[in-house]
Amino acid sequence: MELMVCPLCKGPLTIDAQTRELICSADRLAFPVRDGIPVMLESQARPIEDEAAAAPVVLPPAS
Ligand SMILES: [Zn+2]
Repeated sequence: MELMVCPLCKGPLTIDAQTRELICSADRLAFPVRDGIPVMLESQARPIEDEAAAAPVVLPPAS
């Protein structure tokens, strides 16, 4: 089975089940999949907004 890798960093990609994009967490890019074909072009990639990091991080108070 062919493993999808990032065209930039050659790192492994993960599939976002909701957006059906291929995600490179290292480059923080999401590559679109059109008609079932991954578009592995940096120019077509979308920068990932890190929702977890964007949300305020609540740390437990140090005691
Ligand atoms: Zn990458």
